[in-house]
Amino acid sequence: MTAYFYPLNNVIQDYAWGSYSSLNTLFGMANPENKPQAEIWMGAHPNGCSTILVDGQETLLSDFINKDMAAVIGAKTAETFGELPYLFKVLCAEKALSVQVHPSKAQAEAGFAKEEAAGIPLTASVRNYKDPNHKPELVYALTSYTAMNGFRDYAEILAFFHQLNIDVLSELIANLDANQNEQGLSAFFEALLSLEGEQKEQAVNELLAFAADNQTDELFALLLTLSEQYPGDIGLFSPLILNTLTLQPGEAMFLDACTPHAYIKGTGLEIMANSDNVLRAGLTPKHMDVEELVACTRCVPMPKDTILLSPSSDASGKGNVKLYPIPVPDFNFGVYQQTENERLHTTSAEILMAIDAPMTVSHANGETVTLQKGESVFVPAFVGEYSVTCSGSFARAFN
Ligand SMILES: [Zn+2]
Repeated sequence: MTAYFYPLNNVIQDYAWGSYSSLNTLFGMANPENKPQAEIWMGAHPNGCSTILVDGQETLLSDFINKDMAAVIGAKTAETFGELPYLFKVLCAEKALSVQVHPSKAQAEAGFAKEEAAGIPLTASVRNYKDPNHKPELVYALTSYTAMNGFRDYAEILAFFHQLNIDVLSELIANLDANQNEQGLSAFFEALLSLEGEQKEQAVNELLAFAADNQTDELFALLLTLSEQYPGDIGLFSPLILNTLTLQPGEAMFLDACTPHAYIKGTGLEIMANSDNVLRAGLTPKHMDVEELVACTRCVPMPKDTILLSPSSDASGKGNVKLYPIPVPDFNFGVYQQTENERLHTTSAEILMAIDAPMTVSHANGETVTLQKGESVFVPAFVGEYSVTCSGSFARAFN
């Protein structure tokens, strides 16, 4: 008999910025080795592939998919992507992750081809493009979740820097003042990130002195916290340049290609396309290729009121479903609340995760699987119609 529902056994990635307690607090998951549990990976990525039981045998999800790809992820997805096109995560940031930009699909294809042709090894620290794919991301907050996303308005950036009045930056500021447009912001961003040696040190020191005098202001208090995590880093200026916001649980935002962003603190669900292409822009000890970064960055302000996503309900118009608008074909994402035999229909492979209560997934043939909060299940494309009952909320990833 073919099983329809495959509970996932997921890899937990320990990264230095991860949280020691968040998975335990939210899902009751143990942390016996006391590791910084940064991410749970739900998917078939080679660097951390989930496993499932097939006929009692522990099997890599990627092997299960590859055995009969058109049936498992759907013929259209198999043809377009040749793999499960998304990676679904729980992400627990205790410390800030680097400020970063992901290239567009066209930039990734060109950049990957160029570095391959130049013979730069995939593992080299100066390698920018690990694959030819874009990396759109969506984050859905499970706790209060502080992040940066997109450039602030020109006037806002200028107001901060006029207030700081840092000597070594006066020429940069004057240029931005005179050129409040994409070229002006691009030049400012590049010049700031390119500061080196004494100039950089002086600029960061003056910034921190100002922050220390103004720490009753939330933004400058945050800046001081970041400076403990990344002392002397030029990325400490980024909260003054980028929109800095705190999502409340249940709020979500999309991270566009070519748009600088950073996750600062909090736990959330994240879904992304399969790619490792990251161009760093500060808050990192790793390699920064400022020229390539700026070439891949759209230096235009992102209005604050466009950052949070407005979900729509499904076609039935019921209020218990939030489906998020995603501008790329790689994934879709929805959150369902208090469902009683909610009928769902696969058009691709799906991953469901129980967020805050147990959930039961059932098929008309009688097969049933129950998940506890924090647990997830893989539903192949061939399943067709199935139903879910959940007294709390669950997330649904598909494409
Ligand atoms: Zn990112």
